[in-house]
Amino acid sequence: MSNNYDQTLFDRFKCVAEENHLLPTMVTDFYKKKVDEEVAAVGIGGPLYKCVYPTEEKLTLFGPGEVEDFVQEYNHYPVAGNTDIVRQYPNRLLFMTTEACVCNCSYCFRTIKLAESDNIVIEDSLDLLIDYLKEHPELEEVIISGGDPALVSPKRLRTIFERVREVGVPYLRLHTRSIVYNPEVLTEELLDLLAEFDVRLVFHIMHPYEICDVVRAKINQIREKNIRMYNQNPILAGINDDPLVLKKLFTELDNLRVRQMSIFTPDIIAYSASFRIPYKRICEIFDWVNYNSSAWVNSIRLVSAIPPGKGRRENIKRWDKEKGIITFEINGVEFDYVDFPEELYKKSDKLLWKENL
Ligand code: SF4
Repeated sequence: MSNNYDQTLFDRFKCVAEENHLLPTMVTDFYKKKVDEEVAAVGIGGPLYKCVYPTEEKLTLFGPGEVEDFVQEYNHYPVAGNTDIVRQYPNRLLFMTTEACVCNCSYCFRTIKLAESDNIVIEDSLDLLIDYLKEHPELEEVIISGGDPALVSPKRLRTIFERVREVGVPYLRLHTRSIVYNPEVLTEELLDLLAEFDVRLVFHIMHPYEICDVVRAKINQIREKNIRMYNQNPILAGINDDPLVLKKLFTELDNLRVRQMSIFTPDIIAYSASFRIPYKRICEIFDWVNYNSSAWVNSIRLVSAIPPGKGRRENIKRWDKEKGIITFEINGVEFDYVDFPEELYKKSDKLLWKENL
């Protein structure tokens, strides 16, 4: 551990994590080198540091409306007694293939579920998934999720892809953050498999400084295999809550032929206050990016993953600024989103510290 890091803070977080079933700190050497560089430049608490290490605010700041499972996945398990299949939309479902990650994100919205176990491969649910897909021919996409499914062996993934395709589901998608934590996880064998089954690959890249030459080279390798690449990520305080950061991120991704799909507002889960941003500030950031960028950037969607579905600004039915409640309406279902108070929000001055990208 570098001397610039606060070991006392890490020890305090370890106790809090154990008591509250949060994911422990786990960082790859590859990512830590970038964090070390950032810490040497701006001290602790910069954007990459905050993605993987605890801050004082994470331990001491609390906001209104925090719950364990904000998107209420437990209300969307279509197979009784099984928590690896999640269906929230008519045409697609999520399939959890692993509870392990390459590196633990400090903002992980599945932190409590994942902290309870670290199974590299979830073995038992594939038969249940296939039976469910056979009964529901309207489903057209299976999203392979986790944990980080890039950790599942290509052999196991091949079985999943083959069986899903056998029952006639045309689209497969795999979400991973391994591209920034350890690009070597995306092996030639895995990429060939994704290409063979035409699996859409979705990264969760948070900040432009996560994209170094090694990451760029891996993305180029993936592109050469003709695999479709996308990105989506949350907007989080102290990580990317700045219009210039987002514009740089979107531009860099576009240059690499990675299509940014959406930006998500932070999930209101336990210990999330240090990442949360008042909705008004999020709209200001997004509006700036929209007004100051080309169509391939300003077509990106701002969404809130809420229990009735993906809430966009046009889904806002009421906004009680005094009470801090934003009511979204999706398909006739209303949901009260608890906004983050402006007085608790702090803007970081450490987000863009390099002269050039
Ligand atoms: S990669 Fe995804 S599932 Fe894993 S810790 Fe990060 S946010 Fe959570």
